[in-house]
This record gives sequence, C-alpha cells and structure tokens, in this order.
Amino acid sequence: MGIFDKFHRLARSLEEVRANFGNFNVVIERILSPTRAVVNGREVILAGTNNYLGLTFDKECVEAACRAIQEEGTGTTGSRMANGTYHSHLVLENELSSFFGKSHTIVFTTGYAANLGVLSTLVNREDAVILDADCHASIYDGCRLGGVPVYRFRHNDLDDLEKKLRRLREKDPQMNLLVVVEGLYSMLGDRAPLAEIAALKEKYGAYLLVDEAHSLGVLGDKGRGRAEEAGVEDKVDFIVGTFSKSLASIGGYCTSDHEGLDLLRYASRPYVFTASLSPANLAAARTALRILQERPELKSRLWENAHQLYGSLQEMGFELGPEPSPIVAVRFREPEKALSVWRGLLERGIYVNMVLPPATPDGSALLRASVSAAHSPEEISRIIEAFSAFAP
Ligand code: PMP
Repeated sequence: MGIFDKFHRLARSLEEVRANFGNFNVVIERILSPTRAVVNGREVILAGTNNYLGLTFDKECVEAACRAIQEEGTGTTGSRMANGTYHSHLVLENELSSFFGKSHTIVFTTGYAANLGVLSTLVNREDAVILDADCHASIYDGCRLGGVPVYRFRHNDLDDLEKKLRRLREKDPQMNLLVVVEGLYSMLGDRAPLAEIAALKEKYGAYLLVDEAHSLGVLGDKGRGRAEEAGVEDKVDFIVGTFSKSLASIGGYCTSDHEGLDLLRYASRPYVFTASLSPANLAAARTALRILQERPELKSRLWENAHQLYGSLQEMGFELGPEPSPIVAVRFREPEKALSVWRGLLERGIYVNMVLPPATPDGSALLRASVSAAHSPEEISRIIEAFSAFAP
C-alpha cells in the first residue's frame, strides 16, 4: 500500500476526462483587467470571477495597496496574537463594525479562516449546528474542527429546518443551537429565505450565523448583504464574510453585537496560529469598502449586467439557477455536455467556471458564469453570443 493509493479513483477519473476533453486546467497567463485575461495564448473575457464590483484594478485600491507596501512592508510575518496585529487591522475592524452597525468585528486572514476560526470555537460538542446542505466547505470544515454535531437541512427548505430545530429543542431545552446559512449561494446564485429563517431561529431560541461572502456589495440598499435586504440585520447574531470578492482583496471577517465575540481571539486556532492579513491586502480592502459605500452605481451596473445575462440565457432555453443574480448557473444533466460547452466557450474567448459533481449541489454539472460591474455592455453581449452557439 502506497501513501497515494487512496487517490486511485480520482487519478482514473482525471485520466478519463483528459482523454476525452484534453487538459481543462486553466492558467491565467496574464491578467489584463477585472474582465480580461490571456488564457492559452489568447485574450478572453472573464465571466467566472467573484469580482462583483470590478475593483481589483481600481486606481484608488491599487495606489492604497502600493502605498501600504512601501510604508509597512510586504508581510506582517506573524499572527494576530503575536507580532501580526498592526494599527490598520484594528482600523479595518472598526470600519467594518460601523458599516454593519455592529459593535464587535474580528478580521481573519481569509474568508475560509473566518469560518474555520469562528465555527470551530463558538460551538463545541455540547452544542449543535443546523446548516443548509449547500453551505460552503469552510463552514463544514469549521464544524468538523470544533467537533460540534452537525444537522443538515435541505437547501432553502424551511419545513426541513423547522423539523430539525423542533426535534433538537424538544430533546434539550437548554442546548445552544446555531443555524448557519449563506446570504446568496455561490453555485446557483439563489438567496436564502432569511426573514423566515430569522423567525424560526427566534421561535426555537437559536442563534443565527449568515455567511455573506457573495452578497456583500451585491444585496441590500447599502450593500450590506442579504440580512439588510431581508430587513433582519438585528436578528442575525453573526455575519461572516470575505474580502476576496466584492472587496477585491483577500481576508475575512466576523461581525456581531455579542460582546463574547472578542474572546474568540484567545481561543480560535485559525486566528492564533496563522500569519495576519498583509498591509497591502488590508489597504485594498479598506479602500474597496469605502468605494462600495461611495459609489452605489457599481451595484446598479452589476445588476443590469446580471439581468441581461440571466434573461438572455433563459430566453435561449438554458436550464438556469432559480433566480437572476450576478451568479448565473447554467445546468447540464451530463458532465460531458458541460465540459464540451465550457471548451467551446473558451474557444470563443469566454471563460466561465466549470463545476462538476460532487462539488455541485444536486449532482448535475454546471457552468457558473458570473458578471461584474466592470463588464461593458459589449462584453456582456459577447458572452451571450458565445452561449447562443450552444442553446438547447
Ligand atoms: N464562504 C463562502 C460562501 C465562499 O463562497 C467562500 C469562497 N468561495 C468562502 C467562504 C471562503 O472565502 P475566501 O476565498 O476568502 O477564503
């Protein structure tokens, strides 16, 4: 038995896919703008990023990041608990608190680390997490690291959520129950029914954590996410998110009105035992957070692009995710079909994400297209035109 024998099945399926479809690993050989890159020697339109507000090349973000490097260096070389907490970490934490109207915020090194750090510490073996089955891997991993019992409810199924909450509450009236959902789901681009979920968490005396990774800057009048849009910000106990999407940087956060949140700094291994966010990433995230608030037209443009792409693909007869959003998921029953359309789009100069089972929510394959505020009307038309070649 060799140490890699366990990957036998994976290696065989990779070989099969490569034999049928060639190499599907995409390397961005040169990144040109938020919406353009060179892939396989050819310029393509990027229609599969999480660059919702298109700020990765924004002049102010770039200048702030460069200035931070010149003034504070390229890395912090230490964790938040050792030599890695700089003044700007605290400033960003305060800025996030005032943006969300919450009293406590912790900044982590990535969005993945934020979920890992919060979930592995906040709940333990005596508590229970009830999570939406489509939640991101970082949520599952955080629960696993802390050893909390996990109960999954079917995606966006309120009856199933209530059934699980009722059973757990009946079993133990005192137990801490934490409901975990996402604001906007990353694969199908559909929203959580958050007003109803918040009502259920109140009814059963549970806590509620919402991962707003894909909804910050995208949903809500002020861009604060799904909780703002659904009018339940005061009922959400913990909001977790990332700087790697609308904020055009890298990093993560958790914000809350619960005073106890700050204790996590002393107990959370993914906070204590990893290097802190670099000065450049901090500066870019802070600048993007300011721009998100100063330029609401970015969100309007993002939604115009989203409606145009979703509407056009729907008219062509593609099977899409349940509602229009900046994430437009095109579904295919057979993975082979998804692969060949994905390749065809790339040949036509359009890059989208390909997601194959088991990473997809219901075992079907999907092409995850996503739009940005930075896509021009012409770029959106080119994406639509490329898809039209494969209309069912
Ligand atoms: N939560 C969700 C819902 C996500 O989609 C992602 C990233 N795709 C993360 C957390 C992790 O964020 P990051 O990439 O910043 O680590």
